[in-house]
Amino acid sequence: MALPDAAKLSLNTATTRAQWGLAQAIDGCARHGIRGIAPWRDQLAAMGVQEAARAIKANGLAVTGLCRGGFFTAKDWRDDNRRAIEEAHALGAQCLVLVVGGLPQGSKDLAGARQQVADGIAAILPEASKAGVPLAIEPLHPMQAAERACINTLEQALDLCDALGEGVGVAVDVYHVWWDPKLAQQIARAGRERLLAYHICDWLVPTRDLLNDRGMMGDGVIDLPRIRGWMEGAGYAGFHEVEIFSTLDWWRRDADEVLATCLECHRRT
Ligand code: ZN
Repeated sequence: MALPDAAKLSLNTATTRAQWGLAQAIDGCARHGIRGIAPWRDQLAAMGVQEAARAIKANGLAVTGLCRGGFFTAKDWRDDNRRAIEEAHALGAQCLVLVVGGLPQGSKDLAGARQQVADGIAAILPEASKAGVPLAIEPLHPMQAAERACINTLEQALDLCDALGEGVGVAVDVYHVWWDPKLAQQIARAGRERLLAYHICDWLVPTRDLLNDRGMMGDGVIDLPRIRGWMEGAGYAGFHEVEIFSTLDWWRRDADEVLATCLECHRRT
């Protein structure tokens, strides 16, 4: 299989969030020749949406996604998603990533939560379509079903896409789906139209923190070239967005070193 094209690397700004705000991350991408960026909304708010849009455009960066909308089981979900769609539109983002939300506080009704999510996405889909913002459902590892996302496999996400119709697809984050025995089959099922984003990092052994101990590509057990092959086989030709939450390692390092390492390791995976 061909090695990945360096021009396909995108920086999800979570990777440098401990060191850099969004303005610095934009400059960092420009300095290192990284062509894509995926901002988080708290950093976007801190910089200001218009200023961020201007700086991203001035540096010729593609916005490979905006993180994040979703949390449909929380109280203020509708307004928050409306704002997220506006921001994604202002940035010209390729998609709005949806972390769909877990169980409502005090609830044990997982099926009910999943229905709430389906209803929530259906409710915002017309606005998103009108704004030209594709919605990317990101299935999260089942360990996060209670607190973050009750959509936990690609199959589940695609069933939802089938029910919702156009304007919605998936974000495939290797950290969340690498273990899934149906991964190859479901990536093929998704197809080019619904594969909206590809998030990369690695699964460390041992994992010291289930949320914030993601590894650099190549440092763990995920067969990244194989998964990339499945994505490409399904027609995905978009960016490879590096997204590393790492309180114990990468968030403690110099951010320029982190970016240089991302570029180096991406080349091999
Ligand atoms: Zn992700």
